[in-house]
Amino acid sequence: MVLPVYAYGNPVLREDGETLTPDYPDLQQLIDDMFETMYASNGVGLAAQQIGKSIRLFIVDASPFAEDEGYEHLKDFKKVFINPEIIEETGDEWAFNEGCLSFPELRFDVDRQETVKLKYLDRDFKEHTEVFDGIAARIIQHEYDHVKGVLFIDRISGLKRKMLSKKLNLITKGMVRASYKIKYPKLKK
Ligand code: ZN
Repeated sequence: MVLPVYAYGNPVLREDGETLTPDYPDLQQLIDDMFETMYASNGVGLAAQQIGKSIRLFIVDASPFAEDEGYEHLKDFKKVFINPEIIEETGDEWAFNEGCLSFPELRFDVDRQETVKLKYLDRDFKEHTEVFDGIAARIIQHEYDHVKGVLFIDRISGLKRKMLSKKLNLITKGMVRASYKIKYPKLKK
């Protein structure tokens, strides 16, 4: 089932997610629904906060990047991350033009480090420790932030953010069109 994506301004996007346990109700169905939702909106990553759940769960499918030269290895890069913990980030910071399904029509350059080492559980609660780099690291770093209540607008300077404030206001007021199902925050009277 395709779920609505929660847009910027919904308080759940600012919540630090709870640690997941295997008895979380209908977890496998929730993960399947998140993939359906992500594909319906042409995303490459989606965090639980973006469908209104404050838990430490995100999904990634980087395969659309496999068409680009040098990224063929991402052809089958489809993963579920539960209770992720970044162990270390290394390498130089590099800029990449990021988008976010919770911020329709908004893209800007974000600096992040090249490599991330992560401990996480897969959808069967099997533990993994893995190192990711390049685009894969980038998507994981962005989604990891989401499950801690951090957004990509927090990763740019105050000045840059100020320049985006008009666009951000339009999103919180529900005045931006999205090509996918989206849930705008309730407007205060
Ligand atoms: Zn995002």
